[in-house]
Amino acid sequence: MMLADLRQAVIETARKMKEYGLVELAGGTVCAVDKETSLVAITPSGLEYDNMQPEDVCLVDYDLRLVDGRLKPSIASDMFTEIIKARPDVGAVIHTHSSYATAFASLNREIPVITTTQANLVGGTVPVVRPLHPGPHTKEYLANIVKTLGNGKAVNLMCHGPIVVGDDLDDCLAVAVTIESTAAIAIRAAALGNPVCLNQDDTKLAYDYCRRAVGQKKHNERGE
Ligand SMILES: [Zn+2]
Repeated sequence: MMLADLRQAVIETARKMKEYGLVELAGGTVCAVDKETSLVAITPSGLEYDNMQPEDVCLVDYDLRLVDGRLKPSIASDMFTEIIKARPDVGAVIHTHSSYATAFASLNREIPVITTTQANLVGGTVPVVRPLHPGPHTKEYLANIVKTLGNGKAVNLMCHGPIVVGDDLDDCLAVAVTIESTAAIAIRAAALGNPVCLNQDDTKLAYDYCRRAVGQKKHNERGE
């Protein structure tokens, strides 16, 4: 994908994030990696997505040096570049403030695997990144995000909201929507009783099966 196309794809994902009710105003962040140039296309700080143009999307290197763009990148950029450096498999990262998932972050409680959809697309629970971190990011905090994420697909920043990683922007969006709906279902189910949680084996089975069998081409191209 050309860098111009990647910037356009970042905008389209940001707009969908809003359309799906995962963010309000200029909240959240979207970024995608161009593996050939090792550049990251990332949404600018504090700009609403409706009228965003491709040149508004910042291009930075992995150390956050601005390579192209007229605006300041998202203030959360360091969280994403640290993840990208630690996880070469990741092609995109998005951050939302979706309300049910964030309710779990405010309870300091992981989002459980209580739906097969969560198992299929996320492959596990969504752990909370501790501690509460209201100020500029410290090295320790960034390392904590990377450690809590491990090889997983999502973490939930305490009292803040989810960070989701994926093969590409579509993958991230699917995971972000899934964890939000799982969190909503978990809250409804807990109002009626104790929801059934999938165990680790069933979760892994569901995740691997979905990676292998679902979709039209993406996974087949890799021969998986
Ligand atoms: Zn945020």
